Order: sequence, then C-alpha cells, then structure tokens
Amino acid sequence: MSKIRIGIAGYGNVGRGVEAAIKQNPDTELAAVFTRRAADSFSLNTPGAKVVNISMAKDYANDIDVMILCGGSATDLPEQGPEFASMFNIVDSFDTHAKIPEYFEKVNKAAAISKKTCIISVGWDPGLFSMIRMLSGAILPVGNDYTFWGRGVSQGHSDAIRRVAGVKNGIQYTIPIDKAVESVRNGSNPELTTRQKHLRECFVVAEEGANKAGIEADIKNMPNYFSDYETTVHFITGEELKKNHSKMPHGGFVFRSGKTGNDDSNNQIIEFSLKLDSNPEFTANVLVAFARAAVRMNREANTGAKTVFDVPLSYLSPVSNLELIKKLL
Ligand code: NDP
Repeated sequence: MSKIRIGIAGYGNVGRGVEAAIKQNPDTELAAVFTRRAADSFSLNTPGAKVVNISMAKDYANDIDVMILCGGSATDLPEQGPEFASMFNIVDSFDTHAKIPEYFEKVNKAAAISKKTCIISVGWDPGLFSMIRMLSGAILPVGNDYTFWGRGVSQGHSDAIRRVAGVKNGIQYTIPIDKAVESVRNGSNPELTTRQKHLRECFVVAEEGANKAGIEADIKNMPNYFSDYETTVHFITGEELKKNHSKMPHGGFVFRSGKTGNDDSNNQIIEFSLKLDSNPEFTANVLVAFARAAVRMNREANTGAKTVFDVPLSYLSPVSNLELIKKLL
C-alpha cells in the first residue's frame, strides 16, 4: 500500500511537530514543506525533504494527498484555509473558537468546488476536547460541562504581557484551581465563576530601569486577559526565562457531571484529561491522525469542510477494522 504523502504549510512549532509525527507513522511520508520564507532560511529534520516557496504549492497538487496547515489562527489560516482548500485535502488547527463557524463556511465553499476533504479546527481544544464534550453530552443529557485548561502556556496571554510598556519578555501560565477541579470531580455540580476556575501566573523580564510596580498593575488590570482572574506576576532575569520557561507544556480536563435514573439520583462523572510536555508536538500528532482520515474520506467522495464530529473514528487509525475489532473492542 502506498504511503500517504503529506505536505506541511508553515514551519513553526506545529509544523516542526508534524514533521516529527510523520516519522512515528509508517503509513505516512513527508512530501514537502511550504513556507513564505526563503527556502534556505531554515533546515528540516528530514534528510532529503524539500522546502518550497508557498506560492509554488499549486504545482504540487498531484504529489500531495493531504496538506497540513500549520499557520497561526489569527491571520495565517483565515487566508490560507480557503486558498488551500481549493487545491488540496487539508487539515488545520484553527482555534479562534468564536470565528470557527465563519471559517467553516469559507473553507466549505472552496472545498465544494474543488471536491476536496478539509477537516478544520483539529487539535486538542478545539479537537479532542470538543469530541469528548459532544460524546459526554449525548450520553448524559442531564448534566453540566466543565473544561479546565492548564497548567500550561497561553500564547495569547504571553503575547499580551510582552506588549506592556517596560516588558522585555514574558510568559504566562494558565493554572486550574485544584479546589474547583475537585468539586467537579466529586459530583457537586458547582456554579463556578471565571475567577474560581483558573489562576494566571506571569513570569516577566523587565527592561533596565523599568517601573516594576507599574508593569505589575498594568498586567493585573488588563481587561479581557487578566482583570477577571487572580493573577500573580514574578520578575525574573532573561537567563531564568530561557532556562526554566522555554518549553511549551499544556493540558487540561473536560468533565461531564450528569445524573441518571428515574429520580436523577445517581451521579455519573465523565473525566478526560491531558498532560502535555509539548502542546505543539501533541497537536501535530492529532493533525497527522486526522490527515489519514481526510484522505480516506476523500477516496469515498465525502468532500467539503468537516470537523472532528464528522470523522468516523476508525478512519484515524492505521490499523484495519478487523484488527481494531479483535484487539480494542
Ligand atoms: P508559530 O508562530 O510557531 O508558527 C506560525 C507560522 O509562523 C508558521 O507556520 C510559519 O509560517 C511562521 N513562522 C514560524 N517561525 C517563524 C520565524 N522564526 N520567523 C518567521 N516566521 C515564522 O505558531 P505555532 O506553530 O505554535 O501554532 C500555530 C497555530 O496552531 C496557533 O496559531 C494555534 O492557533 C494553533 N494551535 C491549535 C491547537 C488546538 O488544540 N487546536 C493547539 C496549539 C496550537 P512560514 O513558514 O510560512 O513562515
């Protein structure tokens, strides 16, 4: 059986993760990496693999079974998603939750014409967490959903810190509050405010002579990002930041706390959790599994924009249906 030929569009953290994930999946191979930068501005970790300018991607339509889009959600994917959907089967990790319906429509329009299969918003949230939320709600219609994130680095909040006057560099960790997680886990179905669910911890490198009290106040009072949370700010050196905070851990918990029985007297708790040393590498592994599914769905003419909800579960696995039934059912 020939291997699934994967293209990577965008070579950042997730792009590098996809390259590594392809090596772990013997039924896949890297066809080429596409970038907006000069082809010699970075080197790949796959001997012999090609780096190509993204403007040449259309010339590769017959050489690639599925393109994994690894651009940023803020500005790259809104353009690249519909554009690539007109040429390739695609999988991406678009994660601006509020804009997913609009993005879905644009990708769907392009994919309807090209007859490609385009699975959007794949990763862990949106992605695996969305699947668990959907599944748990279908099973326990009477109940509440809870999602906690962390302990992990939030890129958006880290970027917000770095924009504060007097800040040279910084990173932000989102931390679920243990007491809140426990109260959900023990079935008490609490009503939790934003402040009761998560803490925000910031590590900041200040510019020489900057007013640290002012920086701390600016961060803690920042609307939308920090003002609704208990936030702590630690000032550290650039060396400490590099030594202790250069990984990108993340994770979280999804719960459905439901009731069953004639008088709703029994508690039923569904809990799914992730503890990730590397958010982009994990996201990349999810993307590659869904890339396999996109190719299979396209072979069956199941085309258009799709989400994790539309993918038959067995299509994610390289193992045959019979083997899955024998070993995992
Ligand atoms: P990066 O910022 O590392 O990369 C984004 C793009 O920026 C790349 O595709 C690349 O495009 C360009 N780029 C990367 N490094 C450089 C550089 N040194 N100089 C210039 N340009 C560069 O983002 P991530 O890979 O960390 O994340 C991508 C997206 O994945 C995020 O925006 C997020 O939305 C999503 N995500 C989704 C998750 C989920 O669970 N659904 C989880 C984690 C992330 P090019 O090669 O064309 O220059």
